[in-house]
Amino acid sequence: MTNTNRIINFSAGPAAIPESVLLEAQSNLFNYKGLGLSVMEMSHRSKAYDAIHNDAINDLKTLLNVPDNYRILFLQGGASMQFAMLPMNFAQHQPVDVIHTGSWTKKAIDELKKGYQYRVVASSEDQKFLGLPDASKISFNDDAAYTYMCSNNTIFGTQFKTFPTHSKRPLVVDMSSDILSRPLNVSDFGIIFAGAQKNIGPSGVTVVIIKDELLDTCHPDAPVFFNYTSHASANSLYNTPPTFGIYIAHLVFKRLLELGGLKEQEKQNTLKANCLYQAIDESSQFYCPVPKEDRSPMNVVFRHQDHNESIESAFISEAKAAGFDGLKGHRSVGGLRASIYNAQELAQIEQFSTFIREFSKKALVHSH
Ligand SMILES: *Cc1c(COP(=O)(O)O)cnc(C)c1O
Repeated sequence: MTNTNRIINFSAGPAAIPESVLLEAQSNLFNYKGLGLSVMEMSHRSKAYDAIHNDAINDLKTLLNVPDNYRILFLQGGASMQFAMLPMNFAQHQPVDVIHTGSWTKKAIDELKKGYQYRVVASSEDQKFLGLPDASKISFNDDAAYTYMCSNNTIFGTQFKTFPTHSKRPLVVDMSSDILSRPLNVSDFGIIFAGAQKNIGPSGVTVVIIKDELLDTCHPDAPVFFNYTSHASANSLYNTPPTFGIYIAHLVFKRLLELGGLKEQEKQNTLKANCLYQAIDESSQFYCPVPKEDRSPMNVVFRHQDHNESIESAFISEAKAAGFDGLKGHRSVGGLRASIYNAQELAQIEQFSTFIREFSKKALVHSH
């Protein structure tokens, strides 16, 4: 069922949530499964909430095929809190190897500067972050606490297609903007973390998938709330978790399983991204500044050929009038960006690609 009053939302985050999930949440909002109250009003220690919580964990485990020697945690504080929490727990005595690929790794580095040691082992800063280092060619330090990277650079529109699995130290990856977009081999990683508001659900939930081995090495002096073991030993119920956000995430996980899991999702995401990048590549007005091999299938960054900002704003307002919203590039880089996470459907991307083609034709006529 599609409500025609809804926009096609390309916001980078908080981002679109599948309509079927919103409608199911709506139908249960007032009186969850006849229990006489909403999920928001339930004790986090109640049986009904416990079922939601554990379903969410189990469904995510199934989706990502998470091995038994990993724990799934639902934390708060966003991905940004992880930038600080990681070194607090694991970098007290050893330096961190960092792959620097944009604004979000910069923020993680800024936290490391507060009393921790780190080495930038690869960087795409000299390409203004509009490309990525070759993951297979990076050399790492065997004495590092861990290797830190971001899989998908939300702002610059780049995504690592492969991971540097040759690092001997645990690989810690910020997957905020591409988790659940493709299957993963979870055993390649020490820690995967992601804020929920891009590809999972509402803001306020941060998913952390952590290897048991690492839990055993958390720094004992880290404040209780910032110690991963506090949350792991309490099954993410150390304190009141963001229950409603976890409830929505659980509906999203269920839907992905029903749709055939992450292999199927990856197929859809590839079709969507190919469709949109093709419209941009063929446009006489726009171009994508990222080389093909590094392009993100989640965040499609594009610009007017001459960086003409008045044409870019005309595009944004005409798109908005046609029902496409959230297309302004991140305030730090400008330009245009369409975020096309799992919730977006191929038909919507096709509509938008047609819009780009028509706008380009019209703009061409005006410029002659
Ligand atoms: C959005 C985003 C963040 C920040 O997330 P918050 O939950 O707002 O802290 C960090 N990393 C990446 C890759 C992101 O896309």
